[in-house]
Amino acid sequence: MRTALTDAGMVCTGRILAILMLLYGFRLSGHPVWVGVFNNAQVQSVVMSAYNGALNASGDDSLFVIAGNQAVYVVLHGDKIVVGNANHLIGVFDKLTVTKRDSSAAVRLRPVLPLIKARNYEDSVCLYADIGRIRMINRIDEAHYLAGVIEAETGLGRTHEFYKATAVIARTYLYGHYDRHYSENFHLCDETHCQAYKGKCNDALIQLAVSSTADTIITWENKPISATYHANCGGQTESAKNAWQSHLPYLVSVSDPYCTSYPSAQWKKNIVIDDWIAYLMKNGFKPNPNIVSDFSFQQTARHLDYKVNDVLLPFKQIRTDWDLRSAFFSVAVEDGNVLLNGRGYGHGVGLCQEGAMEMSRRGYNYGDIIRFYYQGVSLTKVTHEQ
Ligand SMILES: [Zn+2]
Ligand SMILES: [Zn+2]
Repeated sequence: MRTALTDAGMVCTGRILAILMLLYGFRLSGHPVWVGVFNNAQVQSVVMSAYNGALNASGDDSLFVIAGNQAVYVVLHGDKIVVGNANHLIGVFDKLTVTKRDSSAAVRLRPVLPLIKARNYEDSVCLYADIGRIRMINRIDEAHYLAGVIEAETGLGRTHEFYKATAVIARTYLYGHYDRHYSENFHLCDETHCQAYKGKCNDALIQLAVSSTADTIITWENKPISATYHANCGGQTESAKNAWQSHLPYLVSVSDPYCTSYPSAQWKKNIVIDDWIAYLMKNGFKPNPNIVSDFSFQQTARHLDYKVNDVLLPFKQIRTDWDLRSAFFSVAVEDGNVLLNGRGYGHGVGLCQEGAMEMSRRGYNYGDIIRFYYQGVSLTKVTHEQ
């Protein structure tokens, strides 16, 4: 039962942290981050095993060891979880908490219903029944969490300064959204709703990026910024005001010379002209038999609306309706087709990942990169309460 499982310490800590952050700026107390993992899946059963060492497990008040490479199953049963191994039932519990027994060990989770690829988690994992699903919470050191986020969000094989910029962005998100899942009894989920996180990161360069930027976040007027990013801006980033009707002084459009030679800087799409006209008619366009409609439109700099005759249609809406890579495209008519010539990949707001990669290759450091894409911001060191 969820109320019985609520850890009063965590709720209290969350409230105190929120109050401290309001009163004194950014102070976290070295408490672990609580991440709801496999958050979008209604997991009914999961196999848990000890990866690279043994684990200590505690099911309510009963303690047991999961030896290296051994597995237990955890199955939802009403408001309890049933825990067992291949040979016998271990117990029926309200809550199961697993921590590492060997320093190298990780908790390996493989949901079976639904079937999801296994992931390894550092530090500790807590499991309990939560309204028709097994809730799994990874209580994890901030640095371990951030390294996992960087790997999940940007992949391997990037440059060091790019990873450092990404580490600061991920930390800024954490400090700005520490209470996002407060009502669900954890801090952040592991999906893009918060930040993608798929467990333990083994990459040394990513880990170094986290440790070498320790405690640094991006601020505007002494508050963590909304550090949005996208794959490629096509040569000009978009403002938050145009993209989301939400003006933020540091999320303004900048001309980006760094990303334009990357493959995702350009895209094309052909649409049969009759389909294009039918689409426009659904959105208020009325063909005029007396004049030839001109469907072409040049978007050399970003525009908000596509205009044909008297109809204005937001490029953002066209992007969604046609599942396009970006809202930054020109329209031409060739041989009975409408040709969309597009630029960039993503919403275009904030940091352009491929531009940031190119900046780091050209010798700019992570501070230069952050200040280029987020105009007028500060890099602030967080102070920690002891
Ligand atoms: Zn979330
Ligand atoms: Zn760019």
